[in-house]
Amino acid sequence: MGRTAIVGARVFDGEEVTDAGVVVLDGPRILQVGGAVPDGADVVDAAGSTLLPGLVDAHVHTSVEALELALTFGVTTELEMQGMFTRHNRAHVTENDRVADVRSAGFGITPPGGHPSELMGDDGHDGDGDGGEETPWEGVEDEDGTSPWADVVMPFSTTPEEAVAFVPRLEAAGSDYIKFMIDDGTVEGAPGLPLLSDATIAAGVEEAHRRGLLTVAHTLTVDATASAVAGGIDGLVHLFMDGPHTPEIVRSVVASGAFVVPCVVLNASMMGIPATELAADPRVNSRLDDAWTATLRSSYDRYPQGDLRDVLASVKALHDAGVDILVGTDVSFPLPAFGGMAHGASVHHELQLLVRAGLTPIEALRAATSVPARRFGLTDRGRIRPALRADLLLVDGDPTTRISDTLNIRQVWRRGAPLFR
Ligand SMILES: [Zn+2]
Repeated sequence: MGRTAIVGARVFDGEEVTDAGVVVLDGPRILQVGGAVPDGADVVDAAGSTLLPGLVDAHVHTSVEALELALTFGVTTELEMQGMFTRHNRAHVTENDRVADVRSAGFGITPPGGHPSELMGDDGHDGDGDGGEETPWEGVEDEDGTSPWADVVMPFSTTPEEAVAFVPRLEAAGSDYIKFMIDDGTVEGAPGLPLLSDATIAAGVEEAHRRGLLTVAHTLTVDATASAVAGGIDGLVHLFMDGPHTPEIVRSVVASGAFVVPCVVLNASMMGIPATELAADPRVNSRLDDAWTATLRSSYDRYPQGDLRDVLASVKALHDAGVDILVGTDVSFPLPAFGGMAHGASVHHELQLLVRAGLTPIEALRAATSVPARRFGLTDRGRIRPALRADLLLVDGDPTTRISDTLNIRQVWRRGAPLFR
């Protein structure tokens, strides 16, 4: 692969708009930002366009096909939040420039019968007598037909000692970060689910930190959020939707230093709001098959009593108080029951919703680029800087002033490889 010079684009480098004018790729890396076009480089005339770092979706449940779809929308990295694609199980993704790159939590620590068991419609056991080591994601297989999780025992933990014991097992199984499920089922229409105790969360987090591992928590209620931040969690991969924010909860999130991945698109879907407008956008539906379009047009609809205005106001309050906001979606599979989201497309939807909440377009774009890279320790991406990965998105127009222009996709590069001919 030779050198490619992208010339004349407005450059959003992950933090600011620069007057670089020229960005040169050399194989899989960015060679230079600004300066002259090197002799012999292939030139891409990008006048009228904006060059951005490839986007990051900081909360997904993915597959190879979904990673391929995400990349067509300029999403170059997805962060898996349950099960698949741990460090030892993703060489086929790492080395494939036709799909988005991925990092993974592996399985989240939860009590026996705890979330996400209720998504299966029973107590999490599927009746095959193997001790309940089942999830909605079991049965997903690698290309060679074997499940990478065949030997994994689900990290069910009831006590601090059990949580502490699971952290090194998850680390050995290749988890990039350790996830804790804190969910009593309130907003899923399954109240009364068993919960991790505050002491169990705190002990597990402490063990993860002792090993230098980042910790994240699934928290959809104010109470679960308070538990997570009290336990020292580094990041919340949802935003509470069971009521408006209070000064107390905002203060405690700020004081903890935790980041928040609001997944507003998921909260909207939980409240019964489908992504109808997004699905009607030809820039979106032209890239989706019928199953994904139908999924966008449906919704989870498990918490219709919720108010999306509360969620948007909470995003704004946390952002204004200095909390790092990250773009994530909780997108999963092309099934109406998991509706309202599609891989890649929903990242653009979430960007629009963050702007609707009150972030500027540039603040929203940071939330999908430099901020997730910084908070998840992805030091090789998320900005347009020399020596970083050439994971890039080129769009027509100016999303730094009109956020929906992110959907005017002209080209995507993954490790310097152009996706479209
Ligand atoms: Zn999720």
